[in-house]
Amino acid sequence: QPATPHRPVPESAGRRRVAAPEFPAATILGYPRIGPRRELKRAMEAYWAGKADLAQLRETGRRLRAGTWTDLAGRGLAGQVSNTFSDYDQVLDAALLLGAVPDRYRRSTPEDTVFAAARGADGLAPLRMTKWFDTNYHYLVPEIGPETRFRADPAKPLAEYAEARELGVETRPVLLGPVTFLLLSEPTAGAPAGFTPLSRLDAVLDAYEQILGALADAGAGWVQLDEPALVADRTPDELAATATAYRRLGGLAHRPALFVASYFGALREALPVLAASPVEAIGLDLVRGELPDELDVVRGKVIVAGVVSGRDVWRTDATRANEQLDRLRAAGVPVSVSTSCSLLHVPYDLAAETDLPADLTGQLAFAAQKVDEVVALAAGDTGTGTVPAPVPAAAPAALPPVTDRSPYPVRAAAQAARLALPDLPTTTIGSFPQTGELRAARAELAAGRLDPARYDAIIEAEIDRVLALQEQLGLDVLVHGEPERNDMVQYFAEHLDGFAVTGNGWVQSYGSRCTRPPILHGEVRRTGPITVRWARYAQSRTDRPVKGMLTGPVTIVAWSFVRGDLPLRTVVHQVAEAVRGEVADLEAEGIGIVQVDEPALRELLPLRAAERDDYLDWAVAAYRRATSGAGDDTQIHTHLCYSDADEVLAAIDALDADVTSIESARSHGRILVEPALRSFARGLGPGVYDIHSQRVPSVVEIADELRAARVALPAGRVWANPDCGLKTRGYAEVTEALRNLVAAAREVRHAA
Ligand code: GLN
Ligand code: ZN
Repeated sequence: QPATPHRPVPESAGRRRVAAPEFPAATILGYPRIGPRRELKRAMEAYWAGKADLAQLRETGRRLRAGTWTDLAGRGLAGQVSNTFSDYDQVLDAALLLGAVPDRYRRSTPEDTVFAAARGADGLAPLRMTKWFDTNYHYLVPEIGPETRFRADPAKPLAEYAEARELGVETRPVLLGPVTFLLLSEPTAGAPAGFTPLSRLDAVLDAYEQILGALADAGAGWVQLDEPALVADRTPDELAATATAYRRLGGLAHRPALFVASYFGALREALPVLAASPVEAIGLDLVRGELPDELDVVRGKVIVAGVVSGRDVWRTDATRANEQLDRLRAAGVPVSVSTSCSLLHVPYDLAAETDLPADLTGQLAFAAQKVDEVVALAAGDTGTGTVPAPVPAAAPAALPPVTDRSPYPVRAAAQAARLALPDLPTTTIGSFPQTGELRAARAELAAGRLDPARYDAIIEAEIDRVLALQEQLGLDVLVHGEPERNDMVQYFAEHLDGFAVTGNGWVQSYGSRCTRPPILHGEVRRTGPITVRWARYAQSRTDRPVKGMLTGPVTIVAWSFVRGDLPLRTVVHQVAEAVRGEVADLEAEGIGIVQVDEPALRELLPLRAAERDDYLDWAVAAYRRATSGAGDDTQIHTHLCYSDADEVLAAIDALDADVTSIESARSHGRILVEPALRSFARGLGPGVYDIHSQRVPSVVEIADELRAARVALPAGRVWANPDCGLKTRGYAEVTEALRNLVAAAREVRHAA
């Protein structure tokens, strides 16, 4: 009987009619995309500034993708990936793929739509941005409501797949999985109370079905669906939704073979759910997680074994990796050697570093070297690509016990007598705008082309300027403006023993922004004062109190690559001891207020609830180690950003800082009604100026927020301040916003 288009669905529907193509023996889950020399950053910023057109931006992207595929092919990597490139963020790309970007951001090209949603445009606020699991990468939070209409738009993955193919490289397109996409989304503003984005799973799966069909038509043998949300605690309903999703996608008659990737931890209760679904391959993070004791659960699947870490810069312990691979092989489980997660979180290539100490270089692997390791492990070659297990370091020196400060009322009285601040004091978070001249001066100094004395004079002049501006605006507690710092972590790393800094080790943080995380490889020790010179200078130039400005131990460690041979808590406490010494030196110079920032406290919160109390205990203890040496009349401030602070409010309280400034503007004061904050018995500065936006808040607006804070919190506790440092803003807007902030504080103060 001849086949007709109207032929009824054959009985084999629900099972793939062709066997899955073999999964490559070596693969990666993803690769950096900002460019080995940050080419994409430059191209994006030129496009935004109107200095380059869309064709030029697209050409840069095409060149970077081709460069990566060619390089990795040369390294012998068979399991290449596509659709891992992004013009801004892979979660926003997923929203675009599903046709689910809110209409207000729609523009005539996908790039302009992405940039409008990511950066805001024409008076539109951008989508909210938050941290990608426990990394320092930020994604844009999709907004999904009951009314959201999904429409499959697979143009981007199809184009990248075809592009690679033209270069002779067969790839596996990577998509964010439907469950993680919905779990990371937040309800639209108009959604009814109790609505959860996950309730839209069926509609989203319709779109995924079409996308998978289109990729199969294009010839893709495998597709990777990323489901990192499955390594966090999940409710029975969420696990049931996972089962539904993969039963449906796996049951499609016309689709590529499916590889569900998990990372950033162990799947635990989600593993049997995926294993029971009709997908062909499952990816396990075997760096943070372990193989299950009983391998029968994964029988029938390809296991993509993430044995090479995508979260650190160390060479792989080949013994441990091979043990896990051998267990799988011995059990007859088909296995592919892989990275534990995308390599997005590590720098491109160690070969670009020229100034790292040789003994350290021998221990390091960046993205390119990690690909070499994956290839070597897959080939069973343990001699060249990998190193033996590191020799454990000598036990670190024991640290003195953490002491407590005097009770808060005693400190508060001593500080009030010393500082004589008005009710509702005004201050800023530390940095002032970093000008091009400052950046140029730092670069010239580093290159040896600027005389250090001349550099110091430039910094002093900048401090004078920033102090004069603050006095003129009428702020109560001044800052020196941090002009000497390239970055709040790298600056300290450069001045502490035990750290190395890279020349080109850039890692994407969000959009075009990258950081160069220092490498913490040895015993951390402070060899002398770090910030005292500038604090002393600033205080000598004004009668008002100047805050000393330090980065906290958790944040210094969170934003560095950290040695793996010591428990994280031990390393954090070592750093805390160094910060404690700096606090003491600032005090000895007569600095009466010291701020110790801890914006990464929330970031390191474990994904599993059962591990959180332990983390918060040692993290809080480290902060107290750093600050508890301060005398009663020294006022300790701390600062945290991001609206997700809700989950750590009790810990913020336990930091025992005299004054805490916290993000509030973007979440519209939501933080102030948190019960945990009401019992918070010390000074609190809700950030009333959103520095992540170029908008200048009005006096009325700020005064409203301050009044609301004074209603929510007991009298005498509220401070007025922006919600973060002013480093990324321009002087014009900052001057106006701070003028409004001071005016609002005075108005509210006098009305009391
Ligand atoms: N003191 C730092 C600054 O003002 C704090 C930055 C931050 O919280 N990320 O820049
Ligand atoms: Zn901040």
